[in-house]
Amino acid sequence: MIRKLLRKVFGGADKPRNKIPAPTVVGVAQHGVRREQLSPAARKVCTVLQEAGHKAYVVGGAVRDLIAGIEPKDYDVATDATPEQVRSLFRRSRIIGRRFQIVHVMSGPETIEVSTFRALHDDDTPTDEHGRVLQDNVFGTQGEDATRRDFTVNALYYDPSDETVVDYHDGVADLKKKTLRMIGDPVARYREDPVRMLRAARLSAKLGLTIDAETRKPIREMSELLSNVPPARLFDEMLKLLTSGHSVACLKQLRAEGLHKGLLPMLDVILDQPMGERFVWLSLENTDGRVRADKSISPGFLFATLLWHEVLKNWEERKARGEHATPALFAAMGEVLEVQAEKLAITRRISGDITEIWALQPRFERRAGKFPYRLLEQPRYRAGYDFLRLRAEAGEVDMELPDWWETFAHASTEERAAMLLPETREGAARKRRRRPRRKTPGEGGGGDLQTAAEG
Ligand code: ATP
Ligand code: MG
Repeated sequence: MIRKLLRKVFGGADKPRNKIPAPTVVGVAQHGVRREQLSPAARKVCTVLQEAGHKAYVVGGAVRDLIAGIEPKDYDVATDATPEQVRSLFRRSRIIGRRFQIVHVMSGPETIEVSTFRALHDDDTPTDEHGRVLQDNVFGTQGEDATRRDFTVNALYYDPSDETVVDYHDGVADLKKKTLRMIGDPVARYREDPVRMLRAARLSAKLGLTIDAETRKPIREMSELLSNVPPARLFDEMLKLLTSGHSVACLKQLRAEGLHKGLLPMLDVILDQPMGERFVWLSLENTDGRVRADKSISPGFLFATLLWHEVLKNWEERKARGEHATPALFAAMGEVLEVQAEKLAITRRISGDITEIWALQPRFERRAGKFPYRLLEQPRYRAGYDFLRLRAEAGEVDMELPDWWETFAHASTEERAAMLLPETREGAARKRRRRPRRKTPGEGGGGDLQTAAEG
């Protein structure tokens, strides 16, 4: 009672900053990260800011990864300088974002994301009806900035000038213990931002960390909250997860936590179909291998594989209802992408790529006449072919088919001619029908596919 009164009189006693513990300064002997390990741009950005009298640290995933012995994907810098001050110190830089501005500093081939320390939320922070924070745009102290980050291992601040790590939440110790622990009350933190549940699954898989029991426990019950997250944000997170080089481990983790249902609406269905499951895992293993070998990967290809069995099912159902093969395929593709978009906004460019890859598939069946030559000239031939091979590896089509195409693609003119299959009766019939250039409604499904996929 009295304490409450005192709080009222003196105010501020309940302010979030009182939840902030004193930091530990961890020396290089304990964390092991030398300044030479940072990217040149990250080091330079910190030095320039510090020489101008500001605080500046490498922060977040990069510090975590370096301590864990992994090469960071990119670098973030946190500072007490305002975005305008940062902007004025770097010629090649620009302020981005409206609500909470950050600065992109370009240096050589790198872009460093520089953000000003952010304040904690308080009672005035706007949220949606489920408690999801809609805005956080107030500058704060380093301690506040640390405390509003998600996991202890993500709240480490590396100072290149003396190679120390400022650690407010025992993140270095957690990392050494291989534990992923939420800062603060996990239930409250998931409510503020349900995407943190996905981040827990992704980061634990990527870094081989065990999710601390209290951090893990609420996930299953709270997973429903993901449905309130804007689809575009879910898509970004899902893409990060799938292109992390650890997508197989990540998805297994998602499944173990019951989180996969809200993401790709069909993912749970797919994973329950024996064929679909094998196909999806193969595709993800393939992707992980490419990421780890530093090869490029195409998000379109990836999503095309994840959703393919849904398309197949829909297509079969349509054909069983008597729809013509080609229009049925396009209708199936459209429907699957539309249902998907409600949960997870796949960007227009990527859904274009997905459609192209799918639409090429039936064309690999046609190995007579001019068809194979036309298909080889398709700009997306390679992606379509890789997709076909994956289907064969999963047992959906005979391996003979991709093998034929591989040989055909590399054969000489004469060899190619000898490889062509005889025109099927159906193909020949179509040709005969076409010759008089008569057009009857519903006829010539294959022709539609040709134009649609080529156009
Ligand atoms: P990655 O290896 O994928 O880059 P990351 O942890 O660096 O992992 P980013 O999305 O780059 O992920 O975020 C950078 C930092 O911002 C994180 O380390 C964390 O400190 C903070 N952060 C990111 N997302 C959230 C979130 N949803 N809630 C709180 N803090 C977050
Ligand atoms: Mg990062």
